[in-house]
Amino acid sequence: MQVFRFKTGDSVESEVQDFGSSEGAMYLAGGTTMLDLMKLDVLRPDSLVHISSLVHKGIERSKDKILVSAGMTMSDVAEHALIVENFPMVSEALLLSASPQIRNMATIGGNLLQRTRCPYYRDVTYRCNKRETGSGCDAIGGVDRMMAVLGTSEKCIATHPSDLAVSLSALAAVVHAQGARGKRTIPIREFYIAYGEDPIAENILENGELITAIELTIKPAAKNSLYLKVRDRASYEFALSSAAVGLELEEDTIRSASIALGGVGTKPWFVAEVESFFVDRKTTRGTIEKAATRLAKK
Ligand code: FAD
Ligand code: SF4
Repeated sequence: MQVFRFKTGDSVESEVQDFGSSEGAMYLAGGTTMLDLMKLDVLRPDSLVHISSLVHKGIERSKDKILVSAGMTMSDVAEHALIVENFPMVSEALLLSASPQIRNMATIGGNLLQRTRCPYYRDVTYRCNKRETGSGCDAIGGVDRMMAVLGTSEKCIATHPSDLAVSLSALAAVVHAQGARGKRTIPIREFYIAYGEDPIAENILENGELITAIELTIKPAAKNSLYLKVRDRASYEFALSSAAVGLELEEDTIRSASIALGGVGTKPWFVAEVESFFVDRKTTRGTIEKAATRLAKK
């Protein structure tokens, strides 16, 4: 691990201003991804800015909106009554992630920005375009069982790892961010980007911009939802594939649907047309199979 400067942030405002001028600076929240990757020599920041005390912790409700602070731990959000009652898929996605110890440390902001688990990315003896632009990709043609099949490019086939991001994509949540140019909101469906030419770029945050909160909207399809995760072992394991599904039902007719897939794409995978396909259809096996075929073709 290379030597680095450690700093506890003063305020969100001052840190997002200072960040750009501090070469090689990175934020540290719960550290459950960051410290792993530093020990593996994959990430080599010159300075680490600890943001745990800066980013507000709490969940607030205003009418049909719920604002979840980015600094809350995965455990606290998973068990919060407002989340369990209104967004079961979010609670389940969190509880099916990692382990209790990690969930007690790891934050919501850090979860959304964790790095891929591609084993070639995590081992510096292999070539990886995501670690070093233009160096090549040893995963292509290598051991690729856990790799993405949707949204891949010739440069990178790494799977997006966050279960939480899949549930938030299904619910079309909104990311609240703050950077040197001020505050802004970003629909999570526009937050992650396709790898394209440079797989190092994974989202549209600017240098030094912080995620401050996640906004969710209470709606029938969110209340009647679940997160299903298929993995190699029952705990402490990333998804081979997963589905976040919410349905607004009137008896056996679907009035609206919120759907995203995980473990299969280079970003949380959603297809708005497939959600619209469900509207006013019956909950039959035929409807589900037709929708699944459309989803796989996109
Ligand atoms: P950190 O490690 O502190 O930071 C991660 C990244 O986010 C860094 O780049 C940091 O700069 C950045 N960052 C953090 N907060 C902010 C912010 N507010 N604004 C801007 N940037 C920020 N995850 C799953 O979803 N599903 C799993 O099944 C799963 N299994 C796991 C199993 C193991 C063994 C381990 C070690 C991890 C697993 N994880 C899983 C990942 C885990 O959920 C993440 O490591 C964790 O959520 C990261 O949060 P953190 O607060 O520790 O982030
Ligand atoms: Fe790196 Fe992506 Fe290739 Fe994995 S798939 S080695 S992350 S470029």
